[in-house]
Amino acid sequence: MPECPNCGGEMKFDRKVRMYVCRNCGLMMTRRDLDLLRDKRFEEEKDLVEEYLEWWSTRKKR
Ligand SMILES: [Zn+2]
Repeated sequence: MPECPNCGGEMKFDRKVRMYVCRNCGLMMTRRDLDLLRDKRFEEEKDLVEEYLEWWSTRKKR
């Protein structure tokens, strides 16, 4: 199971939305996003992760 970049929780694939959803915080990511983050590693691509999380939290408020 992929790990949530936000809280480190377990992410489960949701067939309905075709995205990975964190069971803990509800973060949704596509397979591509997860691969991208995993391949680049968080330390190296911290900006990307922060950007994504910022986008995600903005999206959540609306
Ligand atoms: Zn999470």
